[in-house]
Amino acid sequence: MTDTLTGTVETTGLETLGHWIDGGPVGGTGGRTGEVTDPATGRVSRRVALASEDDVEAAVSAARAAFPGWRDTSLARRTQVLFRFRELLNERKPELAEIITAEHGKVLSDALGEVSRGQEIVELACGINHLVKGMHTENASTGVDVHSLRQPLGVVGIISPFNFPAMVPMWFFPIAIAAGNTVVLKPSEKVPTAAVWIAALWREAGLPDGVFNVLQGDKVAVDGLLTSPDVAAISFVGSTPIARYVYETGTSHGKRVQALGGAKNHMLVLPDADLDQAADSAVNAGFGSAGERCMAVSALVVVDTVADDLVARVAERARSLRTGDGRRGCDMGPLVTRAAQDRVTGYIDAGVAAGAELVVDGREVEPDADGDGFFVGPTLFDRVGTDMSIYTDEIFGPVLSVVRVRGFDEGLDLINANPYGNGVSVFTNDGGAARRFENEVQVGMVGINVPVPVPVGYYSFGGWKSSLFGDTHAHGVEGVHFYTRGKVVTTRWADPAHGGVDLGFPQNV
Ligand code: NAD
Repeated sequence: MTDTLTGTVETTGLETLGHWIDGGPVGGTGGRTGEVTDPATGRVSRRVALASEDDVEAAVSAARAAFPGWRDTSLARRTQVLFRFRELLNERKPELAEIITAEHGKVLSDALGEVSRGQEIVELACGINHLVKGMHTENASTGVDVHSLRQPLGVVGIISPFNFPAMVPMWFFPIAIAAGNTVVLKPSEKVPTAAVWIAALWREAGLPDGVFNVLQGDKVAVDGLLTSPDVAAISFVGSTPIARYVYETGTSHGKRVQALGGAKNHMLVLPDADLDQAADSAVNAGFGSAGERCMAVSALVVVDTVADDLVARVAERARSLRTGDGRRGCDMGPLVTRAAQDRVTGYIDAGVAAGAELVVDGREVEPDADGDGFFVGPTLFDRVGTDMSIYTDEIFGPVLSVVRVRGFDEGLDLINANPYGNGVSVFTNDGGAARRFENEVQVGMVGINVPVPVPVGYYSFGGWKSSLFGDTHAHGVEGVHFYTRGKVVTTRWADPAHGGVDLGFPQNV
């Protein structure tokens, strides 16, 4: 039996979620599937199709066929569809949040927040007509006018990670679509349902078939998009090794690529900071979404003179958090898979073995949940050395490591020596120190007394160094630039004073 919304096919009691191609659900051809689990219970909830090369071709062909019609659709009509999509999303976002919680595990309020932050980009894209305007210069040369325009690229591929099943794709597709491109979205196979729900919403909003397609899958799907001659650009978000691979493979196949990678975010606390505010912020940014955010704080860099006091305040707050099923009003949910849980507890074991001081041990958590979910509780280490794996690696779990420093300069040097440069924050009441920090820190997104400095939709999101390959950040004006190509037109209309044959290089007179 096939479900009309998702194209799921019932086999042996478990549904298999398929792709969304050319305006409707499609089962796929490869026969390979993956498991989708509910992380709070540990139970397999459904299976997901993993695309074959033929499925990639089908999705790309649908997007290619839809491109000329969508490119030539007026901006007025395109933005009407965008506005309608925004209204539907706003009305129904609790439904999408439930899907996210059921597959990712984050608590419902956090899932709702994720959708709202994604909605910001839809709202930005509703104003695309202003953002793609060109310029015009009259009489650049005698009787010659010049104007510029920005045109869509064609088919764009979006490849997203598991940790933001709705927000990360929404960083990209609203702008790509509004600018006149067509899209193939390849979501993470761990959280496949949100993308198909979004596709059905686009259909309801009146988007023509083939403009937004969803391709479920793994490396086969990614490689298919990276090498297809019909895909003009790739937006990728995920871990650094895969981001580097995507950037190198995509650009070597002639594509425009932006590939956002992993992170190791620091929060520097200076002695004059408000320590209660800093402790609240460290807990929010360290343990929100169980640390599975690319902007999560994982290294708490504290000046020695206030370190004992701050560690005590953070520990007290961490111990009071309720960990459990995200549908039960808990503070923190599970990790996404059993493998992620094992990986994070492995890091905690390694931190203890390396001699760091374990202040709060998340391995002992007693979650509020049924079944056998993938829980690790809030974990706090003190006196962490910069050679320990809990400091050097992106753990992507609820583990905060306190690194003690003697002062501002040592803290700043430590942050700048890190290979990642996604997000960072400083907590201080000293404006001069904050200003120097902003000026000298080698990180793309900076918070001053703000722990998770995710830029609003009309600014652009992106890190430096190993946190981003390519030079274009996501959304905001840079997003519009990425999904459009500039053209400059020089015009002269019949003028009896034209100069006749002249083989010299054109000069403006
Ligand atoms: P991941 O790199 O494992 O997967 C990301 C995407 O790549 C998925 O769609 C996946 O199917 C695909 N993929 C995985 N292995 C592949 C391979 N060998 N070849 C081709 N494609 C492959 O990342 P994840 O575990 O889903 O997400 C967590 C990571 O994403 C963390 O490192 C986190 O910091 C990062 N992240 C970064 C940002 C940012 O803005 N910089 C935002 C969110 C997440």
